Amino acid sequence: MEEWIPIGYLLSAALFIFGLKKLGHPRTAPRGNQYGAMGMLVAVLTTVIDMQMTTVGGANWTLIIAGLVIGTVIGTIMAIRVEMTGMPELVALFNGFGGAASALVALSESWKYIEGSDALPTGLNIQVIMVAAGLSALVGWMTLTGSILAMFKLKGGISVFGKWFKTPTWGPTWLNPVKVLLVLSVFALIYLSIGDPRNTDYLWAIIAISCILGIVLVLPIGGADMPVVVSLLNSLSGIAAAFTGFIIGNSVLIVAGSLVGASGLILTFIMCKAMNRTLPDVLFKSFGGSGEKAELTRTKVGSDADEVAMMVDGAQKVIIVPGYGMAVSQCQHQVKEFADLIAEKFGTEVKYAIHPVAGRMPGHMNVLLAEANVPYEQLIEMDEINPEFPECDVAVIIGANDTTNPAARSGEGPLAGMPIIDADAARTVVIIKRSLSVGYAGVDNDLFYMDKTMMLFGDGKAMMTGLNNAIKDI
Ligand code: NDP
Repeated sequence: MEEWIPIGYLLSAALFIFGLKKLGHPRTAPRGNQYGAMGMLVAVLTTVIDMQMTTVGGANWTLIIAGLVIGTVIGTIMAIRVEMTGMPELVALFNGFGGAASALVALSESWKYIEGSDALPTGLNIQVIMVAAGLSALVGWMTLTGSILAMFKLKGGISVFGKWFKTPTWGPTWLNPVKVLLVLSVFALIYLSIGDPRNTDYLWAIIAISCILGIVLVLPIGGADMPVVVSLLNSLSGIAAAFTGFIIGNSVLIVAGSLVGASGLILTFIMCKAMNRTLPDVLFKSFGGSGEKAELTRTKVGSDADEVAMMVDGAQKVIIVPGYGMAVSQCQHQVKEFADLIAEKFGTEVKYAIHPVAGRMPGHMNVLLAEANVPYEQLIEMDEINPEFPECDVAVIIGANDTTNPAARSGEGPLAGMPIIDADAARTVVIIKRSLSVGYAGVDNDLFYMDKTMMLFGDGKAMMTGLNNAIKDI
């Protein structure tokens, strides 16, 4: 039986890798999810069998089942209650718990060796265990406090304290003395613990400093950069798991942790590119979402649904540009109905322009539009759709703002250099939102005031329903 344990772990690692590959395309992503879930099931079953065989007197089933029940109940309630717009916060929180879980397992496991109650695994000495426990504590606890703070920042609180930890205006940006000092002291403590491995004070100090480090690192980062931070923290939670796998000698935890670490890092860089920011810029320079909002001095007269419906009637090509407002008003079904109506009634070609950071989490628009059964082929990535705007008769923007703001091209301000959807190049632009107010980065949007722009002021769902009714009446 024992020889089946590594095979079980190998199978689950293979399922994780397969699942990850399938997650690379929206069409195959549901299958990828299933592979991942199957991999986890195999890993859990293998671990349980392994524990039953290797623990004297068998595994403690009461404790395991109690943990499973409590975790399942809390997780299910949170998943059911969360609004779609609150998903990024939930993901941030789960990342944090992942990091903390890894660090706790590493702590309890290394404790047994430090105290001497368990014999060290073959090939490992106590110094190696101390280094792994220290690194796991650094990454795990930093992930927990950083993620909790990221969650609050995504909710829109706490930005005022960020001022204390902004990068000093002098010297290179990475030279923020508080952060550098904290990181160095953790490494110094890990080094000291190698010389005095049975002294647990070092571990407690590392945990305390790591918790502070998570807060200090995330505090000055602007809300608009939060998705990048959440993705980086996700990557860190994977690295913490890999360290823990090393301590408990579990190969599948090392593989799965490394996969999470690597894929989280890849996503982090993709998002940095989409926002035209470098990772050091995100981590060490404050930007957007800091609560500073541009003052609005201009006005624009709104249009009505009948006027927009008549204009769409003559359009051969319409590109829909969804943004955060579509998520807030949950109008994806009305948007799909609009696309179907004009395609059927007027023979219009319809496509959707997807900005990589539209909404509040990566893939936010894809998830919502998939829920409304919009065909994947109609969802076109920003780089691919942008050249099509000059030939587009009407760009219909639903609750998007920063991701369409031409101010990003100016090279100044919080949005400087962020690639945007070129909706302003369309012949006519229709924008559905409740007011002229600014988007997440707090920058006024010239697109609203252009002569070719028609503003439909109101909640996304109400406006789309009105527009669809007006089209049906034509
Ligand atoms: P923005 O956040 O720039 O703007 C959204 C607009 O939606 C607002 O201006 C608001 O205007 C409008 N809106 C809000 N509620 C409604 C409603 N009920 N009906 C209609 N409109 C509504 O959105 P974008 O998607 O263009 O840009 C995303 C921004 O978020 C970027 O700055 C990005 O960096 C940042 N971000 C992205 C994350 C991601 O991973 N995707 C995560 C965190 C931040 P009004 O109040 O007038 O209605």
